[in-house]
Formats: sequence, structure tokens, C-alpha cells
Amino acid sequence: MRIVRSIPELRVLLKTLRKQGSRVGFVPTMGYLHEGHASLIQHCRARCDSVIASIFVNPTQFGPDEDFERYPHDLDHDQALCLKHGVTMLLIPEATELYTTGFSTFIDPGPMGQILCGSYRPGHFRGVATIVAKLLNIVQPDLAFFGQKDLQQAAIVRRMVWDLNMPVELVVAPTIRESDGLAMSSRNSYLSIRDRIRALCISRALLATANAFQKGARSASELVNTAKQLLVDLDELQYCELVDALTMDPIEGEVKRLAGLCVAGKIGKTRLIDNVLLSESADPTRLLSLVAIPD
Ligand code: AMP
Repeated sequence: MRIVRSIPELRVLLKTLRKQGSRVGFVPTMGYLHEGHASLIQHCRARCDSVIASIFVNPTQFGPDEDFERYPHDLDHDQALCLKHGVTMLLIPEATELYTTGFSTFIDPGPMGQILCGSYRPGHFRGVATIVAKLLNIVQPDLAFFGQKDLQQAAIVRRMVWDLNMPVELVVAPTIRESDGLAMSSRNSYLSIRDRIRALCISRALLATANAFQKGARSASELVNTAKQLLVDLDELQYCELVDALTMDPIEGEVKRLAGLCVAGKIGKTRLIDNVLLSESADPTRLLSLVAIPD
């Protein structure tokens, strides 16, 4: 595995890979890697000849009172995980190289960036869309891999790829969970043992809602209430909403298309998000991938 710290160096290496006819896959991350990231790398390896992963804690997607300064990191562990899972090149760029003096161009994801997490984290998705666009321009992968865990992020990236005619196939992979149900997240490391137990109410609520759906419940308000009744251990419930899983539009009345029940809340200072897809499909996450590359 090659560690690459500069963009020109990466471009030279990628050129050689492409000359060899390599199908290039890309897995962008913010580091402090866990099995969720490992699963994206595995999906990438299964479909591509070369796996490019990146670690970059993107300052423009954090608000002033958020955890940018204390975001967890462990580069030795991350490198070992990437090596173990067959990453070809690990890009670890400097913020000064990505955001050079005078940087002023951002991508505005529109209304989709202002709802759900966007309404609690103003500017977050503008930062996300901008860094993802930059990284896609730098790596120019054939396929790029994202987690269902960040459903709204996946929807915003899908929309951006489509709207801006980016020549990349987007793949969304299922959420990986701890054995007790907690969705894996780098931010779980902020939780004390007591808080971690309280956090389990989120996955319990999602599971109960999925079960109700499987048993035939289709009323949006009924499904949302099933979840809300179990979200009792959160210090703050920010939202619990049923949305179209592709567009993030709210679903009212009956669930008739691929839906996502999305939850965000706080345990102490730690903000957690999670979601479950409600669908009759045996593999609903597959439906989130953008296969056709826009002309
Ligand atoms: P992050 O490092 O948190 O920015 O996440 C990098 C990528 O990993 C994003 O596409 C996330 O959606 C994905 N990801 C994070 N947690 C999980 C998880 N538990 N399961 C699957 N993918 C995940």
C-alpha cells in the first residue's frame, strides 16, 4: 500500500494505473476507521482493480461549535486497517493543499442540504458537497463508495453527481453495526459506557419500526410514532422523520416508495445519526446506488 500525501504525486500514480487499464474505486473518509469503513473498502475491492482511500477531516463541513478540533484520529490504526483490507493507495492530504489561500468556490446542494441534519448543522452539506466534488476531481474514480449510515449525504452526493454530470458511478453500501445494534461511527468513541448503553435506543427504535413495516404497517405517522416511543434515552431528539430515501422528501400518508426512517439526537454532547430503509426489496441499499453515469 502506498501512502500519498500530495495531490500531484497522486495524479502521477493514478495516470500509471489508468494506462494499465485499472478500474479505479474511491472510498473517502475522515479517518479513525472502523468496520463500517472496512466494509466500504471491501465493496470497492470486489468491484475495482485499484482501491484509493482518503483520510481528510474536512474543516468546511464543521460548524464553529462542533468537534473539528477534537475529531478522533489514530493514523497507525487507520493505515493498518487499510493495508489489511487491500487498499492500493491511501491519500492523506494537507488542508493547506486542498484549501489554498483565496479559496472561494463552494458547491451549494440546494434545499436537500437544508433539511434534517442540514437544519441542525447549517453549512454542513455545502462543505460536504464541496470536499466530495474536489476529491472526485482529484481521484477521478470509476466508482465511489459511500455508507447508507449517512443517508442524506449519499442523497446529496448522488444529486450532485447527476446535476454536475460527474463521470462516476456511485455505490452505497449498508450500515455496519456493533453486535448490540449500535451503528458504527468514529464519534462513538466520545460515549461513556453509560451513554453508549443509552445510545442503543436509536437502533432499537429503528428495528421496531422495520418490524412494524414488515408486518404491514404503511402509515407514515404510525411508523414514526413507533420509533419515537422508543427514543426515550436521548438527551435531545433532533429529528425522527420518514423520507423518500433517494430525494429526502418527507413522506406523509402511506409509504409507497423506498423510504428511510432517519433519526438524529444527542447523548450529552455527542450527536448521533442513524436510519433504516423501509422497503419490500430484499436488498434495499442497492436501490440507493446511482448506476447510470449522466451524459
Ligand atoms: P466518515 O469517516 O464518518 O466521514 O465516513 C466515511 C464513509 O464511511 C461515509 O461514506 C460514511 O457513510 C461511511 N460510514 C460511516 N459509518 C459507517 C457504517 N457504520 N457502516 C457503513 N458505512 C459507514
